[in-house]
Amino acid sequence: MKKLFAVLGDPIGHSMSPSMHNDLLSLYQIDAHYHPFKVSKEELHTAVSGLKAIGISGFNVTVPHKSSIIPFLDEIDPLALSIGAVNTVVNDNGKLTGYNTDGYGFLKGLHAYITSLSDKKVLVIGAGGAARAIYFTMAKMKPQVIDIANRTIDKAVELIEACPYDTSSKALSLEEAGEQLAEYDIVIQTTMIGMKPNISEMPISLKYLKPQSLVCDIIYNPLETQFLREAKQKGATIQNGIDMFVYQGALAFEKWTGIFPDVKRMRENVLKLLEA
Ligand code: NAP
Repeated sequence: MKKLFAVLGDPIGHSMSPSMHNDLLSLYQIDAHYHPFKVSKEELHTAVSGLKAIGISGFNVTVPHKSSIIPFLDEIDPLALSIGAVNTVVNDNGKLTGYNTDGYGFLKGLHAYITSLSDKKVLVIGAGGAARAIYFTMAKMKPQVIDIANRTIDKAVELIEACPYDTSSKALSLEEAGEQLAEYDIVIQTTMIGMKPNISEMPISLKYLKPQSLVCDIIYNPLETQFLREAKQKGATIQNGIDMFVYQGALAFEKWTGIFPDVKRMRENVLKLLEA
C-alpha cells in the first residue's frame, strides 16, 4: 500500500518540503507521497489523531505547531523535549514519536566549514525557537564558549537557564554583542531581521568582526542577507540558511526511510523553488 508522509502547518502553501521530499521518494523508488496539510491550532489534536488512525508513516510539523504538538504525541525524544519543539514525527506501529532535527540540521551544515567546536567561541544572535534548537544542540557539543545575544535579554537568560548542558554562557544585549564581536570565531544569526521584505536591516553592527570568522544566517530568503553581505565584505566566510533547511529535511527523511538522502540534489531542488 502506498505510504503517506506530510507536513502540518498554518500557513503551509509556501512550504518547500513537499517538493523536496516527493523528489526523494521518487529518486529512491519508495511508493509514497508527501502532502502539505493546512491545520489550524484548534484542529491540531484532531488532525494528529486522524493521521494516526489512517496509519501515516511520518510527518513534519512547522509554524505554529512545533511546541503545541507535544502533548498529542506518544513519546518525545529527550533533546526535542528539552528544546520544547518537535519538527519531525515517526509512526512506529501506531506509536508517534517526536524529534527535533532543526538543531542537528544546522550542525550538519556547519561540518562543511568546521571540524571541531571544542576550540571555537560561538555567538548566537536571537533567542527564539530556532535559536533554542541550535543553542541546545551546539551546547551538547561543548564549544569553548557559546553566548547568546537578544533584543529581549531576559529571553537569552531564560534560554541559558533552560539548557540541559553545562555552558557557562553569557547573555548579551545586541549592542554588547556588536562591541564584543572580535571575541567570536562563529556568529550565528537566528532572528528574522534581514528577511524579505526588510532586506536592508541588520541585527548587530559588524564593525568588530574578525575577518577569519564564520558567519551564518539561518534566513534563506534572501539567500544573502545584508548581514552576510557585510560579513563577506569584511573577509569572513559566510553560510546562509539553505544548509540548515536541507539537512533538517535529510535527517527527517532518514528517520522515516533509513536512507540518508542526496543533500546536493535537495539543495538544487530548493534553490530552484526559491528562484521560481
Ligand atoms: P521566533 O521564535 O519568533 O524568534 C524570533 C527572534 O527574532 C527572537 O530572538 C526575537 O527577539 C528576534 N527579533 C524579531 N524581530 C526583531 C527585531 N525587530 N529586532 C531585534 N530582534 C528581533 O522565530 P524562529 O522560529 O526562531 O525563526 C527565526 C528565523 O529563523 C526566521 O527568519 C525563520 O525563517 C528562520 N528559520 C530558518 C530555518 C532554516 O531551516 N533555515 C529554520 C527555522 C527558522 P525577541 O526575543 O526580543 O522578540
